[in-house]
Amino acid sequence: MPPPAHGYEFGGPLGAFAISLAAPAATYALYFVCNEDGCPSSSFLRDPVGNIASKWPGLSGAFDWGVTKHYFLWYFALAIMYFVLPGKIGDGVVLSNGRRLKYKFSGSASLLTVFAYCGFMTYKEGFQWPFWAYIWDNQLQLMTAALISSIILAFYCYISSFFTGELLANDTGNFIYDWFLGRPLNPRIGSFDIKVFSELRPGMILWPILNFAFMAHQYNTHGKITDSMILVNAFHLWYVCDALHNEPAVLTTMDVTTDGFGFMLSFGDLMWLPFNYSLQSRYLAMHPFELGLLGVVGVLAVQGLGYWIFRRANREKHDFRTDPNDPKLAHIKYIETKSGSRLMITGWWGIARHINYLGDWIMAWAWCLPTGYRGPLSYFYVVYFAILLLHRDRRDEAKCKLKYGADWKRYTDLVPSRIVPGIY
Ligand code: NDP
Repeated sequence: MPPPAHGYEFGGPLGAFAISLAAPAATYALYFVCNEDGCPSSSFLRDPVGNIASKWPGLSGAFDWGVTKHYFLWYFALAIMYFVLPGKIGDGVVLSNGRRLKYKFSGSASLLTVFAYCGFMTYKEGFQWPFWAYIWDNQLQLMTAALISSIILAFYCYISSFFTGELLANDTGNFIYDWFLGRPLNPRIGSFDIKVFSELRPGMILWPILNFAFMAHQYNTHGKITDSMILVNAFHLWYVCDALHNEPAVLTTMDVTTDGFGFMLSFGDLMWLPFNYSLQSRYLAMHPFELGLLGVVGVLAVQGLGYWIFRRANREKHDFRTDPNDPKLAHIKYIETKSGSRLMITGWWGIARHINYLGDWIMAWAWCLPTGYRGPLSYFYVVYFAILLLHRDRRDEAKCKLKYGADWKRYTDLVPSRIVPGIY
């Protein structure tokens, strides 16, 4: 069972096994620990294990057939929208076999369709539209449905990769490692790309829908919508609209170019992202908080700064990778490498090797600051995201060292900072 050329990641098979159990457990735990009592709740602080054990309703309580069917319907409705809604067709990056896959960019049209429907119904029925209460009441069952879907997807992609002749991202022969990291690089059913679809649609579009249900809950239980709730909802919605508007940019991200599609991504896309990233909004639904004018202006400034760095850096790299001779990039200096790819050494990528991560992390602060400070768990996202980005930077560095060899050393000598210019 040979490990990959750059060594096992995520602690190898044992790490993959542990994360496969711990990550879903953590998502459930956050749901129980952050409740009407606090975040964490006072009963959790007194007796953490006993508190969660007493709240866990058992498998039969956490699972509901009706809710699961609705979740499957959601997934398939989005899959149908992928095909029937209009969208440009574009090329992915050149693969190791010299081919480029075609992708359809109908993400924005899907988002608009879902939002138009929800917006119309809310306009007609107000926040009393039963759909919003249904989501609030069935969060746990929806989580389980998302978890089941991500397990099914991971198995489907693992097993089908033995028969389809697709390019492989991980083929160590160790079942748990390959299943977790993903054996196939771009699993497809015909022209339907399971990975890119999962990255940007079922979980990503569900996230603002959950947020909206949380806003409706705040209104229905507290009789008002706070400025903090509006900001968190607006920032998340902006992030999602931006990701879908810039859908082609996902094709040059590490998830798509390098990582396989296994449980790590299917779970991350379907369960972890929508349910954990919306935690601040869920928290505010139960614990309303007003920021006031100064607070709002401060938080908007943090968000604006983060977004500016994040978007400009990602766009620059995407444009450069798509067409390095693009006249609008004429001012960018680069080094030629033996691999044939060029590496930018000025512009955003000359400031720090992952300046895009810094922008994303600054935005993470803007998403948590509106919760004030009445419990550490509403800052879960900032801490978790810092760990994710630090680890991701190391993984990407290892990949680039392998790909570029001595040329990568030349680049790191010219651009020594990893994420924070002059500091890290
Ligand atoms: P990046 O966009 O950071 O891309 C890394 C790749 O860029 C490298 O592997 C290399 O690929 C290429 N590259 C590196 N340096 C240069 C250079 N100087 N010139 C040209 N190309 C270069 O990948 P990620 O997928 O990690 O991040 C994309 C975005 O997604 C980030 O903004 C990140 O914050 C965000 N993200 C958000 C998450 C969330 O949960 N909210 C999770 C993960 C990421 P090559 O040379 O092979 O083309």
